[in-house]
Amino acid sequence: DRLIGADSREGEGHLDHAIRPKQLHDYIGQPRVREQLEIFIGAARGRAESLDHTLVFGPPGLGKTTLANIIATEMGVGLKSTSGPVLERAGDLAAMLTNLQPGDVLFIDEIHRLSAVVEEILYPAMEDFQLDIVIGEGPAARSIKLDLPPFTLVGATTRAGLLTSPLRDRFGIVQRLEFYSIEELSEIVARSARLLGVAADEDGAREVARRSRGTPRIANRLLRRVRDFAEVRGSGHIDADIADQALNMLHVDHHGLDHMDRRLLLAMIEKFDGGPVGVDSLAAAIGEERDTIEDVIEPYLIQQGLMMRTARGRVVTRQAWHHFGLAPDDCAPA
Ligand code: ADP
Repeated sequence: DRLIGADSREGEGHLDHAIRPKQLHDYIGQPRVREQLEIFIGAARGRAESLDHTLVFGPPGLGKTTLANIIATEMGVGLKSTSGPVLERAGDLAAMLTNLQPGDVLFIDEIHRLSAVVEEILYPAMEDFQLDIVIGEGPAARSIKLDLPPFTLVGATTRAGLLTSPLRDRFGIVQRLEFYSIEELSEIVARSARLLGVAADEDGAREVARRSRGTPRIANRLLRRVRDFAEVRGSGHIDADIADQALNMLHVDHHGLDHMDRRLLLAMIEKFDGGPVGVDSLAAAIGEERDTIEDVIEPYLIQQGLMMRTARGRVVTRQAWHHFGLAPDDCAPA
C-alpha cells in the first residue's frame, strides 16, 4: 500500500519487462559497477570461463535483479532465479544446482535469508562445483557427492553485513549499488517514457526523478501514476506542472518523502525529542518491522542527511526539523 515502497514489485508485470535494461550499456548510472563488470565479464568471456561468483548489495529497487539478468545476457548463458526464503531445505537448493547448464547464472535474491543447512550445501558448490548431500535418515542415511557444471552464483542482499562471513568470503566479486542521482534518474524516466510511449518533456521527467528517493523502481512506478493523471486531468503530456500536481495528489512531497518517511521522522521528533532512539523503540512507536526501517525506510533518509545512525541510536538532523517547519532547540548538527 506504499506507493513509493521500493520493496514491492506489485503492479510491475509486463510493463516492467518492457523497460528493464537488458544489456550493460542500457544500465544507467552506477558507473563504477558498470566499468568493473565490463572488465570482469570481458575477461571471463575471453578465457571462456564462467564469471566469478558475484554479490550485489544495496537497498531494494536499485537494480540488483536487473544486474543479475544483464550478467547472464552479457555472458551468453541462462539464468535460474530463486530466493533465500524459498530455499527451505537442502534438497530445494540441490534441485536448483543439478538443473544448471554449464556456465549458467544462479540468482539468489535475499541471500542473507538462507537457512544454515542450505548455506552448508552452497559452500562446496561455490568452491569446487560439488554437491555434497545426505539422503535418507538414521542408519539408512547416505552421503552422496555429485559434480556440478561450473556456474556463477549471483547473490543479492539489502545489506552486506547481514551475510555470514564464510558466505561473503566465497564471492570473488562484490558490488555495492548506490542511490541514483537526479540526473541519472531523469535519464531512466525519459528512457522508460520513451519505451512506454508516454510523452514526457525534460522538466517533467526531472520532476518525477527528483521525487523518486534515488530509486529506479520508484521512478518507474511514479511515472506510471503521473501518466494516469496526465491522461485524465491534462492532455496526456507530462510536464513539470502536471508531474508536480500528480505527485502532490499522491502525497509524495518535494523531497520524495511519503507518509511512512514522515511518520518515522515525526515520531523521532515528537516522541523522542529528535533522538537518540533505538531502532526497536522506533519500530514499536510507528508500528513497523525493524527490518523495514533498516532496509527500506532509513537508508534514503540517512543518505539525504535527514537522520543519522549513531552508537547510541537514531538521531534526526537539523535539516529534518526544518523539513517540517519546526525549530530544533537542541538537536544534532545537519
Ligand atoms: P532490486 O533487485 O535491486 O530490488 P530491480 O533490479 O528489480 O531492483 O530494479 C527495479 C526496476 O528498476 C527494474 O525493473 C528496472 O526497470 C529499473 N532499473 C533498475 N536499475 C536500473 C538502471 N541502472 N537503469 C535503468 N533502469 C533500472
